[in-house]
Amino acid sequence: MSNKNTRPIGVHTSIAGGISLSLERANELECTAMQIFSHNPRGWHVKPLTKTEIARFRKLREQLAILPVIHTSYLINLSAKTNELLEKSIQLMKIEMDRAEALGIEYVVLHTGSASGVDPNMARAKAVDCLRILSGIGSWKTSKILLENTAGERGDITSSMKDLGTVMNELGNDLIGGICIDTCHAFAAGYNIASKTGIDKLVKEIDNYIGRDRIKLIHLNDSKGEAGSGRDRHENIGEGMIGSEGLSLFINHKAFRKLPLILETPKKHEYDDLRNLQRTRELLL
Ligand SMILES: [Zn+2]
Ligand SMILES: [Zn+2]
Repeated sequence: MSNKNTRPIGVHTSIAGGISLSLERANELECTAMQIFSHNPRGWHVKPLTKTEIARFRKLREQLAILPVIHTSYLINLSAKTNELLEKSIQLMKIEMDRAEALGIEYVVLHTGSASGVDPNMARAKAVDCLRILSGIGSWKTSKILLENTAGERGDITSSMKDLGTVMNELGNDLIGGICIDTCHAFAAGYNIASKTGIDKLVKEIDNYIGRDRIKLIHLNDSKGEAGSGRDRHENIGEGMIGSEGLSLFINHKAFRKLPLILETPKKHEYDDLRNLQRTRELLL
């Protein structure tokens, strides 16, 4: 049966002027899902949410039937070089989780860490330690972390399915609720998902190292760079090196066909989001 009309689809949306305005912006684009930063992603200082803001967000989410997800701040690095940065990252991660829980948001997307010039196994072990500390300083019933695969740029520690699986399994508790697969990042990291063979290879690795049921969200982006380029450069749907055919095969593959889709495509013009959403809907079978 087609899931064209029931599948949550959305874009990354601004929270300027108040967090609940993001839902209104998503609704104007006829989105049924959306991704937000829960605060200014460039600053360590976070102003607490007021009770009114929280109540308004929760009510509007129900009314508009939009699935919200949070993308954590890019400042967070759980394999940072200094203890000071690790400490700040853990504290900011706690704030992200607390805000998600208050707002009733299930998924909190995280890039595990980046550690240029350090042994990647040690860097991953450090990230697991940080996640363990985080588990000890808070408790979140609704909100869980989704680890996102990264593009394989210098220092990335979780660009492969194997590495994502390692972090999840070594942590061994339910702080991590699953994985978010970014199509641009997967392609850049060497999974050639422009073809069915490449998609099958990725799915096989998911089955081997993670488990299909632990994939919870798709970041649907085309890629400016070539397969294996290691470049995290997102492109409009159908205009990049993955292309419409690859993206269509991917989102309709039985491993992914029920998962929510969030677009993080370039926004140069006001109509870019609408255009990319429209293209995505056309690719759904
Ligand atoms: Zn991301
Ligand atoms: Zn992404």
